Amino acid sequence: MSKDAVLAMIKDEDIAYVDIRFTDPRGALQHVTMVADLVDEDFLEEGLMFDGSSIAGWKSIEASDMKLMPDTDSAYIDPFYAEKTLCLHCSVVEPDTGEAYERDPRGTAEKAEAYLKASGIGDASYFGPEAEFFIFDDVKYSVAPNKVSFEVDADHAAWNTDADFEMGNLGHRPTFKGGYFPVNPRDDGQDIRSEMLSTMKRIGMKVDKHHHEVATSQHELGLIFGSLTKQADELQKFKYIIHNVAHAYGRSATFMPKPIKGDNGSGMHVNMSIWKDGKPLFAGDKYADLSQEALYFIGGILTHAKALNAFTNPSTNSYKRLIPGFEAPVLRAYSARNRSGCVRIPWTESPKAKRVEARFPDPAANPYLCFSALLMAGLDGIKNKIDPGEAMDKNLYDLPPEELEGIPTVCGSLREAVEALKADHEFLLAGDVFTKSQIEGYLELKMDEVVAYEHTPHPVEYSLYYSC
Ligand code: GLN
Ligand code: MG
Ligand code: MG
Ligand code: MG
Repeated sequence: MSKDAVLAMIKDEDIAYVDIRFTDPRGALQHVTMVADLVDEDFLEEGLMFDGSSIAGWKSIEASDMKLMPDTDSAYIDPFYAEKTLCLHCSVVEPDTGEAYERDPRGTAEKAEAYLKASGIGDASYFGPEAEFFIFDDVKYSVAPNKVSFEVDADHAAWNTDADFEMGNLGHRPTFKGGYFPVNPRDDGQDIRSEMLSTMKRIGMKVDKHHHEVATSQHELGLIFGSLTKQADELQKFKYIIHNVAHAYGRSATFMPKPIKGDNGSGMHVNMSIWKDGKPLFAGDKYADLSQEALYFIGGILTHAKALNAFTNPSTNSYKRLIPGFEAPVLRAYSARNRSGCVRIPWTESPKAKRVEARFPDPAANPYLCFSALLMAGLDGIKNKIDPGEAMDKNLYDLPPEELEGIPTVCGSLREAVEALKADHEFLLAGDVFTKSQIEGYLELKMDEVVAYEHTPHPVEYSLYYSC
C-alpha cells in the first residue's frame, strides 16, 4: 500500500489509532500506539523516534536514540483492539544517517533479500514456514514465567515429576497418543483453529488449512509462502493472532518448542525456494528433480546447521525437541523420502513448487533472523559449491549404531549452538547482511538465557537428588 493509500484509509475508514510495530532480537513483537490524527505524510516520511536502550540486546543508554520507519506495504487493521487501529510494521534506522540499524532483525531480512539480488544467484527467495503450537487451558502448562519460577513455587517441582506430566497432558482431547487427525469431539480444537484462520483471512493474510497435530493439544495452521521479509511479517501476525484468539477463549497458546516430555514438540519446518528471471532455480534433473544449485543450497544448510541452530532453535527448550523419536530431526542429512533428517525435499510434480524443507527450525525462532540465516547458509553453499553428499533414504531413527557413526548431528544444547555460531559466522557477514557487532550482541543475549537455565535447579534434579 502506498503512503497516500494509507493516509486515505486512515481518513475514509475513521481509523482512531496507528500501531507502530517492530520486532526485537528475541523475536517479540513490540508496539507504540499513535493518535491517528498525528499520522500524516511527514510522519510516514520521517518515522518515529524512540528509546532503543529499553530493548534487550540493542543500544546502550548513552546512545539510545533510534527511529522506527513504518513500511506502508505492511498495513493491516488490528483484529482485536476495541478502537479501530491501523498497524504498520517498521524497520529501525539510525536517526542521523537513516541507515538500517545493524541489530534490527527486520533490517537484516531486507539486507538478505538485497544481497540475494546483488549476488546474481536469484531475484527472490520464498519462505513457507509451518509453525506448530500448543493450546492449553490449564495454568500448569500455560506460559506464565512468574509461575514457572522454581524458587517461588514448590508445587511446580511436584507437577513436573508427577505421573500426569510423565504421561503427557491428559486433560484434553485427543488424549495422549490418542490420534492425529480425528474429527470432533475428540478434536476439540476445531472452532478455535477456524477462528484463528478466519481472523487471519479477515486482515488479508493468505492461509490454506488447519489441523490437529500429533501431540495432545498441538495444532498447525497453514500459511501460504511469501518473500522473505514479508513472510517474516506474516509470521509475526500469525503468532499474534494465535495468542490473542486463544486468550479470547480463556486459553493459552504457546510456541515453546517442547512443552511436554514424552510427546512431539513443536517444529517450524521452513520451505524455501529461489527464483531467477521468473523461473524456479531449484527445479532440475538431479536427485529428487532438484537442480545442482538446490543441492549446493542443501550443502550450505547442512554444513552451517550448528551455527544456524542459534537462530533457528534459539531457546534452551529447543534442544529438548531435537531428540530421536518425535518426528524432529537430529542428523544432518537430507532425503526426498523420510522425515527424520534435517532437510527434506517434499514430493511435487510441479517444478514451480520445487522446494527445500529445513525441518530443524522451531517456532521460538525470530522469523527475520531465522529466514535470513537460512538463506545466507544456502547461498554460501551455492557460491562455494558445497556438496551435500549422498541422500539418506532410510529411516534415520532406525539406523544401527555403526551406521549412525560419522553422520553429523545438530547441536544438543543452546550453549553448543552459541559456541557454534561464535566459531562459524563468516557466511552471515557476506554483503554486511549480518554484522559482527550484531552477532556479538545476539550471542550475549543467548548466553544470558543459557546461564539462567544452567544456574536454576531443575524439577528433575529434585526428583533424582532431593533425598540423596
Ligand atoms: N512436530 C514435529 C516436529 O517437531 C513435526 C511433525 C509433522 O509435522 N509431521 O518437527
Ligand atoms: Mg505441516
Ligand atoms: Mg506439522
Ligand atoms: Mg512440513
